Amino acid sequence: MGVYAVTGAASGMGREVAARLVAAGHTVIGVDIKETDVIADLSTSAGRAGAIKEVLARSEGELNGAVLAAGLGPGAGKDRPRLIAEVNYFGVIELLEGWREALAATKMAKVVVFSSNSTTTVPAVPRRAIRAYLSGDCDKAVRSVRLYGTGASVMAYASSKVAVSHWVRRHAVSPEWAGAGIRLNALAPGAIMTPLLEAQLNSPTESKAVKGFPVPVGGFGDPGKLAEWVIFMLSDAADFLCGSVVFVDGGTDAYFRTNEWPRAVPLHRVPSYLYRFQSFRRRKK
Ligand code: NAD
Repeated sequence: MGVYAVTGAASGMGREVAARLVAAGHTVIGVDIKETDVIADLSTSAGRAGAIKEVLARSEGELNGAVLAAGLGPGAGKDRPRLIAEVNYFGVIELLEGWREALAATKMAKVVVFSSNSTTTVPAVPRRAIRAYLSGDCDKAVRSVRLYGTGASVMAYASSKVAVSHWVRRHAVSPEWAGAGIRLNALAPGAIMTPLLEAQLNSPTESKAVKGFPVPVGGFGDPGKLAEWVIFMLSDAADFLCGSVVFVDGGTDAYFRTNEWPRAVPLHRVPSYLYRFQSFRRRKK
């Protein structure tokens, strides 16, 4: 049986994941701003530092896995873009950096980060904001979405999830993560019926946008079923899964990006010996 850190363990999909892990006999260290083992406000550096320390103490420096589900939806309010940036991006990557050695200590740890299908279904997400996140500049990331006015929260949300997905893919394949036996992947849900979505449906403006979104299979996703995907991504069956962003969204991503993905790797990213080898084989035939 393993030891797992689960952020956002007090509600929605994080809570469903934690319940399933406990039912399977694992030890779960929940992290949330309310109602769990480690109470921490992930929107502040101090809160994140406290969560890192407390989880390391409770796990005695060894984690078999981590699930990063704490997050805020677009929502309203002047401070919302900053809160989104702090929780959805820095509340994921700082914790993972702080727990990396504990994950490496168990040799085959698995990490699931909650992304979103907003990464590919929200148009014109500012690249400047994504770059700012990845360079660790929270102020710049927030400034980059301000000009969107009432749409700033939506852009802060989508850009935080794009950035966290890029962070996952960059790090997943590195010697410090894949090389240390850690499987790092992301799950990108569509609209799932949790308190986060309920809040959106209760807001007249957000509700219109959510309900107008094309979902080929219809309806909303179930948080328990999404938790099953996380459990699968933490299982031995996922030993060969590395750096993937798994979309479970009722078909919205496929609807919008039918021909845009999969797309071949650009030539400059492929080591030259690989295509030299191919042309050699062609000559021999
Ligand atoms: P939820 O609101 O039910 O749960 C989120 C949890 O995060 C809550 O327990 C909340 O207390 C915690 N949290 C929020 N701010 C925090 C803070 N400052 N410090 C510590 N904890 C904090 O939401 P959910 O729908 O289960 O969302 C889980 C993840 O899935 C989030 O990252 C969300 O962005 C993502 N997501 C959700 C949907 C959806 O439709 N529900 C879609 C795509 C992605």
